[in-house]
Amino acid sequence: MRFASLGSGSKGNATIVCDGHTRVMVDCGFGLKELEKRLLRLRLTPADLSAVLVTHEHADHIRGVGPLARKYRVPVYMTAGTLASNRFGVLPEVRLVEPLQRFSIGDLSVLSVPVVHDAREPSQFVIHSASVKIGILTDLGSITSAVLEAYSHCDGLLVEANHDPVMLACGPYPQSLKTRVSGQWGHLSNAQTASLLAQLDTAQLQQLVVGHISQHNNSLAHTTAALQGVVPGVPIHYACQELGFDWLYIHPQQHPKQQTADRGHTYATQ
Ligand SMILES: [Zn+2]
Ligand SMILES: [Zn+2]
Repeated sequence: MRFASLGSGSKGNATIVCDGHTRVMVDCGFGLKELEKRLLRLRLTPADLSAVLVTHEHADHIRGVGPLARKYRVPVYMTAGTLASNRFGVLPEVRLVEPLQRFSIGDLSVLSVPVVHDAREPSQFVIHSASVKIGILTDLGSITSAVLEAYSHCDGLLVEANHDPVMLACGPYPQSLKTRVSGQWGHLSNAQTASLLAQLDTAQLQQLVVGHISQHNNSLAHTTAALQGVVPGVPIHYACQELGFDWLYIHPQQHPKQQTADRGHTYATQ
């Protein structure tokens, strides 16, 4: 199983998760021309995509969703609240997902995880193959028990570390936006991300990527300092706005701990 990003940040987000011939894109924050160009870097075309999962209706996550779905007939998965934002135009194939619903797309199993963010019904996604679990987690202002439960035991994880509170406070944003970003419905700060990673069970994590890093209110130096030593032995990759990150490969491993834990979980829908 492998995953990659076409770009990560407030100007556009799109993450691809692949297993065999199933290729799922989480969010499409780039217009169609830009999307096609960026997909080529990963040796893909839009026609290769099995589905698009939409996390929420903010422009940096949905800019290309409508045009992509209409031109290439790609099915789009999202919550009813996200669809109700009415920002997609006509979509040929919409599949509504419920919070904590588990559903299949080709060879992959997907879990929708509700998050706290200032959108109508935001949902992040954990994507499983038969033996590998990859979590995508951006655009949340608070760490909840649902998040801690869903994102423990990941083999691969893309998580946001959006801002440094001092840089945000001293930065160029208007006060209302500063309050929004740093609030409980906004984005995780570097320190919150470090706290989240410390609370998750990361014993089997192979690839950790940090993304949605603000270009105005954060710096790589601040993020690396905050996250240093939080997940010992796992190198941290940083996803940037322009290039995202190239394919990272996740290999199946024995997960006795996860199997025990998963047996105890119940999800709302299969
Ligand atoms: Zn965003
Ligand atoms: Zn957002």
